[in-house]
Amino acid sequence: MTAEVRTPEQGGGPLTTEPRAPRSAPGHADASAPAFGPETDPRDIIRWALAAHPDLLMPSAFNLNGVVLLDLAAQAGYRGEVVFVDTGYHFPETLATRDRLESRYPELTFVTLNAGASPDDGQTPPDLYASDPDACCAARKVDPLQRYLKEQGPSALLNARSRDQASTRADIPFVEEGGARRRVNPLAHWTREQLEAYAAEHDLPVNPLYFDGFLSIGCWPCTRAVKPGEDARAGRWAGKGKTECGLWQGENKL
Ligand code: SF4
Repeated sequence: MTAEVRTPEQGGGPLTTEPRAPRSAPGHADASAPAFGPETDPRDIIRWALAAHPDLLMPSAFNLNGVVLLDLAAQAGYRGEVVFVDTGYHFPETLATRDRLESRYPELTFVTLNAGASPDDGQTPPDLYASDPDACCAARKVDPLQRYLKEQGPSALLNARSRDQASTRADIPFVEEGGARRRVNPLAHWTREQLEAYAAEHDLPVNPLYFDGFLSIGCWPCTRAVKPGEDARAGRWAGKGKTECGLWQGENKL
């Protein structure tokens, strides 16, 4: 199922998508997490998260980690939304990957926020990514998702980050407390090799740019292929003094 959401700036009104089942099952943020370990099957972590947080919600940019997590989540019984923010600067290959995933998992609802965004849509100056990438990410990525989460009110998010993506992610726990809601990271201990092997074994629709060295893929003005020996995320905002968009770190993290 597809649901597209336009921003108020695009004449779309509040960030509400119809039809959607009302969120009648609140999460249980006080349910303490079991002691998961590196050998824990990510599906068991997802099952725990679904039991503890029936309103669990999954944002995704459909990178390798996200595609693997999506498949594991579907296997574990996740039937919620997969929420993608269209900044207007995504590679066509990323949008095509989203569409392929949507066809493959009809049991999930794919929601695109900021649907139809483009560099010249007037939401921000077209070259803001160059002059102030923090402001660009805040306006085009973080704010739309924050507003959507405020409307939907999930008590926990399912996230695909892993420790070996970058040195700045080396301490990611399976379950992150603090902030507005829990973040559950079932792939925290998976390596790139594990992710690639899983994707190949299950014939997952990985973004084709990945095989050209784009190991982490964001917007085209802010992503380059990584060089041998670099972190998977070294190609994000390279030379701009920035390593995260603000969704998962910083004062406005989800
Ligand atoms: Fe803007 Fe770049 Fe952030 Fe995309 S990644 S929202 S283009 S600064």
